[in-house]
Amino acid sequence: MYDPFKIDGPTCLSFSFGRSSAFMLKRVLAANGGRLPPETVVLACNTGKENKASLRFGARISQEWSVPITLLEYREGGQFEVVTFDTASLNGEPFEAVIHDRGGILPNPVSRYCSSEMKTRTMHRYIRQVLGWTEWETMLGIRADEPKRVASFRFNPHPETKDEYVRIPLADAFVSAQEVGAFWQAQPFDLELPNIGGKTAHGNCTRCFLKTLGTVVSLEKEEHDPWWAEQELRAEQVATGAGCRFRAGRPSYKQIAIFVRDQRDMFDPEETEAPGCLCGD
Ligand code: SF4
Repeated sequence: MYDPFKIDGPTCLSFSFGRSSAFMLKRVLAANGGRLPPETVVLACNTGKENKASLRFGARISQEWSVPITLLEYREGGQFEVVTFDTASLNGEPFEAVIHDRGGILPNPVSRYCSSEMKTRTMHRYIRQVLGWTEWETMLGIRADEPKRVASFRFNPHPETKDEYVRIPLADAFVSAQEVGAFWQAQPFDLELPNIGGKTAHGNCTRCFLKTLGTVVSLEKEEHDPWWAEQELRAEQVATGAGCRFRAGRPSYKQIAIFVRDQRDMFDPEETEAPGCLCGD
């Protein structure tokens, strides 16, 4: 019987620091005798804007499951570097390098070069230059409840290059976010980010422009992150209009931060409850 998690040739498992791709890794281990088969590599790409909890999760998985995870970072000029979970960039350095290589123009929902350069092509460079593979399969942690992404890879399993065949074993096995969430709730360790039915708004880059405005506002309320506004400010030196925004058609990251700060200022943290009066039932 066909097992979507079984490996039989050069294969790259793309680990995105999230619960789904980690669950995929667990299923791959189970389907292949408890370990990674030869010619299998687990690759993760750090943009420098991942949540620190995500990096800790990756390090913990590698340690607890005895699986080597190769951590890659983009470098200027279309280069890459292998780093460790201890030396990983934490201040957006790989992201700034790729913006620099694009002449200071920011990525946006239409031109998502950040993802293709820092993740997809960085993995391809490592696979070709270090592993020497000329053809391989890549497993992505896309679940059955992500119909648009599933349809896209089913329609074209070679989105970047004919040398790569993209497999989506979680979708093939009808794995949903609920199943992933339940798995992690039963584990002795977990990603230290909210588990809302197997999903979290905190994953991927901290304020990714693909997150809804409501999510970005809510994350900014939890913790101020000036990096995104700084990049938009810098982009104003080389572009105007949409070119200096991560996402046109909604407030800039600076405006979002000001909005959140002003909301906070409406409330006096020192204020105490007014003395009780005689009102009552
Ligand atoms: S998570 Fe968002 S900001 Fe980060 S690389 Fe992907 S698309 Fe770009």
